[in-house]
Parts: sequence; structure tokens; C-alpha cells
Amino acid sequence: MTDKYAVFGNPVEHSMSPQLHSYFAKISGQNMEYGKVLVEDSSFKATADEFFKNGGKGCNVTVPCKIDAYDYADSLSEYAKAAGAVNTLKLLDDGSIYGDNTDGRGLCEDLKRLRCPLSDSKILIIGAGGASRGIIKPLLENAVKSITIVNRTLSKAQDIAALFDGLVSVTTYEKLNDQFDVIINATSTSLQNILPPLNDEVVKKAKFAYDLMYRKDGETVFTKHAKSLGISDAYDGFGMLIGQAVLSFELWRGLKPDFSSTIKHFKDDQFKN
Ligand code: NDP
Repeated sequence: MTDKYAVFGNPVEHSMSPQLHSYFAKISGQNMEYGKVLVEDSSFKATADEFFKNGGKGCNVTVPCKIDAYDYADSLSEYAKAAGAVNTLKLLDDGSIYGDNTDGRGLCEDLKRLRCPLSDSKILIIGAGGASRGIIKPLLENAVKSITIVNRTLSKAQDIAALFDGLVSVTTYEKLNDQFDVIINATSTSLQNILPPLNDEVVKKAKFAYDLMYRKDGETVFTKHAKSLGISDAYDGFGMLIGQAVLSFELWRGLKPDFSSTIKHFKDDQFKN
């Protein structure tokens, strides 16, 4: 029987996950299908119950269901616990549901591919939403020197920092004047086609800039602005999207698709043309 997987979310029509996982299944010869499940208001549990009852083996979870998926899981990875959110569910042999979060490790895979200096680097994360929280544990595991979060709503940055035992500091845009090696835009400003209110002098001093948002042409308003300030190493989050998918597939199927060749395949293919 064909194993069933899907992405859950609302909206879900735009999701690239079916193309990614169908490609992974094809290149690794896995007998599986991968669909899209639209989750109507407050129906995550009922929808997921139905899916797993009818042969579902695992799913990805996107906005706005990542916290519902966290609550749904019977057991959680350390990354899901640290993120407070789940983007991957897996049906275990004993019938229970395991929740993981592969977003942050997907980001780190991409940063390494791009030769981003992580070890001993000072990292600035702009934004304190769900994505920001999910990337901190994986970044800390890469021996970064420090992580600072700047956010419009300071209390949200403080709430995240409090989870990481003094390893993460917070500041406001007004007070920020330090030097950072790597700047990661984890706000949703690029979705609105605007820049976060960050002083250009802070950006200019960085060696590397990354925007979690991605666009078909590989450039967001943030990466374009960083490049205009002289940061030639400025990248969008397309590789993070691939990275989290690779890790979800590995969790489900025990096989890890090659990260770099997958990026090349999709960059050369429909997403980038
Ligand atoms: P959230 O809605 O949880 O958080 C949004 C963040 O953006 C908050 O910190 C918010 O600040 C800040 N923000 C929004 N508008 C402004 C503004 N005008 N000025 C300053 N700050 C602003 O979003 P997520 O954390 O879920 O997602 C953030 C980004 O990450 C999105 O662009 C998303 O597409 C991307 N992403 C990419 C992934 C990938 O695979 N590449 C995976 C996951 C996310 P405040 O707290 O003050 O409201």
C-alpha cells in the first residue's frame, strides 16, 4: 500500500511541499504520495485524526497550525520543545504521534552551504515570532558566540530569551548600535515588501545577511537592501525551505535526500524560472 503524507495549513494551496516530497520520493524510489490538506478553523485535531486513521504516516504543518500540531503530538523532539511549535508529525509504530521542528536545522544546513561564518560569530536575529524562536537552539548548537534578538515588541523578544538561560540577549531598534557578523531577518516585513526599522550602520558592519522569506527570483527587499549597503553575501530563505523538507523526509523515511543537488534542481526548475 502507498504511504500517505501531506502538508496541513490554511492557506495551503501555495505550498511547495508536495513538489519537494514527490521529488524526494522519486529520486529515492519510495512508494509514497504527498497531498495538501486545508485545515478549516479550529479543526486541526479532527482533521489530523481523520488523516492518521485513513493511512496517513506523517505530515508537514504550516501556518497557522504549528502550535496545534505541538499540542497534538504525544511526544516531542528537543527542537520542537525549544521552538514551541511543530512543523513535522510522524506516526510511530506504537500508534502514537511524534512531533518535530525541522525549520531551524534547515536554516543551519543552508547557512553552512552558503559558507556563513557561524562558529564564534555574533548573530543578530530581527523579529521575535514563531520562526525566530525555532531557529535559536540550532544556531546555539553551531557554537555561535552570541545571539541578540531585536524586535518591535520587546516583551516578545524577552519571552523568547527567557527560554534560553541567559544565552540570548534582547534589545530595541532604537538602542541597537553594536556590530554583528551575521544578521538574520526573521520578521515578516519582506512579505509586506518593507524593511525592518534597522539602522543601516548596523547592517553595513555585518559580513552576512539572510532573510527567512524567499522569493522566486531569490531576492527580497531585505537582501536587495543589504547588497546595496555592500553586503555581497545576502540570501533569501529558499534553501531553508529545502533544508526543512530534507529533514522531514529523513525523519519519515530514514533516507536523507542530498541538500545541494535538491537546491540546484529546484533553482534550475519551475520555482526559479
Ligand atoms: P510571525 O507572524 O510569528 O512574526 C512576525 C515578526 O515580524 C514579529 O517579530 C513582528 O514583530 C515582526 N514584524 C512584522 N511586521 C513588522 C514591521 N512592520 N516592523 C517591524 N517588525 C515587524 O511570523 P513567523 O515568525 O512565522 O515568520 C517570519 C518570516 O519567516 C516570514 O517571512 C515567513 O515567511 C518566514 N519563514 C520562512 C521559512 C522558510 O522555510 N524559509 C519557515 C518559516 C518562516 P512584533 O512582534 O512586534 O509584531
